[in-house]
Amino acid sequence: MDTILVVNAGSSSVKFQVFAVDGEGRLHRQLKGQMDGIGSRPRLRASGINGDAVAERAYPIEAVPDVPAAMAVAGAWLRDEVRMTPMAVGHRVVHGGPDYDAPVLVDHAVVARLERYAALAPLHQPHNLAPIKSILANFPALPQVACFDTAFHRDHPDVADVYAIPYRLHEEGVRRYGFHGLSYEYIAKTLPECAPEIASRRVIVAHLGSGASMCALSGGRSIENTLGFTALDGLPMGTRPGQLDPGVVLYLMSAKGMTATELQNFLYKECGLKGLSGISNDMRELQSSQDPRAAFAVEYFVYRVGLQAGMLAAALQGIDAFVFTAGIGENSAPIRARVAEKLAWLGVSIDAGANAAHALKISGPASSVPIYVVPTDEERMIAEHT
Ligand code: AMP
Repeated sequence: MDTILVVNAGSSSVKFQVFAVDGEGRLHRQLKGQMDGIGSRPRLRASGINGDAVAERAYPIEAVPDVPAAMAVAGAWLRDEVRMTPMAVGHRVVHGGPDYDAPVLVDHAVVARLERYAALAPLHQPHNLAPIKSILANFPALPQVACFDTAFHRDHPDVADVYAIPYRLHEEGVRRYGFHGLSYEYIAKTLPECAPEIASRRVIVAHLGSGASMCALSGGRSIENTLGFTALDGLPMGTRPGQLDPGVVLYLMSAKGMTATELQNFLYKECGLKGLSGISNDMRELQSSQDPRAAFAVEYFVYRVGLQAGMLAAALQGIDAFVFTAGIGENSAPIRARVAEKLAWLGVSIDAGANAAHALKISGPASSVPIYVVPTDEERMIAEHT
């Protein structure tokens, strides 16, 4: 059977999945794995269709110093031991800039263009592009497709995507892009099957994971998103602050003498749930902690989800449904219940039993806005595009 390899490369790990394509073009997940600890304690782990481990090995640090080396090791394992020769490779690329509103077949010119957007996503884009470049160099005939986290939001009206700064900066690319687009696109595509009654309506989707954002869907299209120029805006996240007055950044520079590099590290890695609680970036740990600062971080998260839902409801001029997805949204019944309390002013109420059971529909019969839980699958979306 033909197969498609999906690659999601970060700074210290390369995640991959393999999908088989049957005669009717349907995708079947075969394998899920990752090379992590790149440059520190490299490890290859992979599991098969039923979650059974098919690889678990460690490598010396010199063998896997960077992302291209990790891609080479994982690729050799897939080729020589799993005996897989993909017909194409799909990549997650965080930034498609202002122009790409759909996935693109990659060649050298496309790579050069995507490299220009590295300044807009310095922590992600270079790592996303590294495996593309190494495959392009070693297997030039293998088709590769770049799938962007920004593309799904490119339909937004201008008024949603500008900042109130001189317009020439907007034209240079300083604007709101929005992220988690592959997740929202998957949800928009899945709703007609799992919840057709809301698929064409006004829906707020809350992607609540280590990275968190919300998207306003109207008729299955994104009209507004809580993330902006970078993935720092909007909701508080595991280690990112979410919405922050830029005056705070000016203060950190002028009063604390922080450099651009220190600020970048601070904003991406030291804030959010981790910074606020002083305990952890992991929602599970915070929920099981007795420390009042953990409880406060959780309350802050829930409060901000409620606030930003109000903003998106205004963008949609009303709301017909609310959907939870991603790690926290799919798995934490207590957080869902607390978010629903923040939406009580809209007439929302939860069915406690359905919520505890992680049912598709978790709102009670009296709820004026139905609430759903829909698991996301960004890798499948990438495979489908590819
Ligand atoms: P993601 O980035 O989508 O993989 O989501 C990761 C986040 O989901 C982490 O903060 C986890 O703590 C959180 N998470 C996963 N399972 C649960 C759960 N059962 N309860 C609360 N949070 C969870």
